[in-house]
Amino acid sequence: MKRKIAILGSTGSIGTQALEVVQANPDAFEVEILTAGSNVELLAEQAVRFNPNVIVIGSREKAEQLKSLVANYPIKVFSGDESIAQVVNSEDIDIVLTAMVGFAGLRPTIAAIKAKKNIALANKETMVVAGKIINDLAKQNHVAILPVDSEHSAIFQCMAGEWKNPIEKIYLTASGGPFRGKNLDFLKNATLAEALKHPNWSMGAKITIDSASMMNKGLEMIEAQWLFNLKPSQIDVIVHPQSIIHSIVQFADGSMKAQMGLPDMKLPIQYALAYPVRLKSDFPRFDFINYPQLTFEKADTTAFRNLALATEAMHKGGNTPCVLNAANEIAVDAFLKEKISFIGMSDMIERCMQAITYSSNPSIDELVACDAETRSVATNTI
Ligand code: NAD
Ligand code: MG
Repeated sequence: MKRKIAILGSTGSIGTQALEVVQANPDAFEVEILTAGSNVELLAEQAVRFNPNVIVIGSREKAEQLKSLVANYPIKVFSGDESIAQVVNSEDIDIVLTAMVGFAGLRPTIAAIKAKKNIALANKETMVVAGKIINDLAKQNHVAILPVDSEHSAIFQCMAGEWKNPIEKIYLTASGGPFRGKNLDFLKNATLAEALKHPNWSMGAKITIDSASMMNKGLEMIEAQWLFNLKPSQIDVIVHPQSIIHSIVQFADGSMKAQMGLPDMKLPIQYALAYPVRLKSDFPRFDFINYPQLTFEKADTTAFRNLALATEAMHKGGNTPCVLNAANEIAVDAFLKEKISFIGMSDMIERCMQAITYSSNPSIDELVACDAETRSVATNTI
C-alpha cells in the first residue's frame, strides 16, 4: 500500500526535497495534495509531474493563472488560505507534511490533526506557538506528530526502542551558522548577504536568517520541549560546526545516544514519511576519514541574544513563545528587506516581549490575537 501524502509548502526547500524523496520511492509514496504560497509556475510544474488530486495556491490573485497552467489535467485547483486548511481535512490522505513557513502553518496543522491525519512536522513555528494545544489535539485524535527538523528527527531516531526509558537530557546540536565565533561588535555591522551564507545547509530565506541569529536553535528548544515532553532544564544546546551529529539523548544511566550522518534534509524527511520503516536510499554516506575531528563549543548567548530571548520564552511559557515567534517573523522580514540591522532584530523581539501582556494558558483564539497584536507592535518599532 502506498502512503498518500499532502505536502503543504511544496515549492519551498523542504517541499521540493520531499518531492525528490517521493520520486526516488514511487512504490512507497503517492502525492495527493500540493499547496504553495504564491509560486504558481513551480506548483503547476510539480502538479504535472506528480499528478496529485488537488493543488492549492495561497494567493487568490494567482488562481486563474494556475487553473490555466493545469487545464489539460484532471487536477482540482483551489486558492486562498482557508482552502489549504480545508483540503487537508477533506481528502483521502495518510500523512500531511507541514513544510510551509511561519505562523501560517498553525491552522492547516490543526485542521489536519482534527481530521485524524498523521503529521510530518517541518513547520516548527506551529509547535513553538501552540505546542501544548497541538499535543492535546494529537492525543485526542490518536495522531502521530513525526519530526522532520533534523535535530528532532535525530532525537526521535535515538528514542526508537526507548520510549519507556525516561530522557535525562537532550543536546540539540547547532552548526553556529555563518557568524559562529563572531562578537557583538562584528554582528552590529553584519550584512544581509553575509547572513544568507549558511556554511552547511541550503534552506529557505527565513530559516537561514534564523540560523545566522541562532533564533533557529531557540525555536528548536521550544519545539523539542513539546515534541518530547521535556522540562526546559532538560534541554541544552551545543555548537557542533561540522553538522554530523544531529543531536543527542542522555538517559537515566548516563548513556548517550546520538544520530549522525552527512547533513541532508532528505534523510529526516524520508524517515518521517516512511516511519517506522527505513527505506533504502542512495544519499552520500559519511566517511570518518574525511572528518578526523568532530568539534564542540559552548553557544554564545551574549553575542547571540536571540538564543537568550528564546530560552527566556521557553521558561515563561504561556503566550511568550507566540510573542517571540511573531516578533521574530516581522524582524526577519524587515531584515531581509534591509529595513533593520542584524542586531535590530533582537531589539525588536525584546521590546515585544516586554510590551505584550502575559497570559499563562492561552486558547487558539487568544494565540491568534496575540500573534496579530505582536506583529503590529513589532511593525511600529521599525
Ligand atoms: P521555504 O521558504 O523554502 O518554503 C516555504 C513554503 O511554504 C513554500 O512552498 C511557500 O510557497 C509556502 N508558503 C509560505 N508562506 C505561505 C503562506 N502564508 N501560505 C501558504 N503557503 C506558504 O521554507 P523552508 O526552508 O522549506 O522551511 C519550511 C519550514 O520547515 C519552516 O518552518 C522551517 O523552519 C522548517 N525547516 C526547514 C528546514 C530546511 O532545511 N529548509 C530544516 C528544518 C526545518
Ligand atoms: Mg533544525
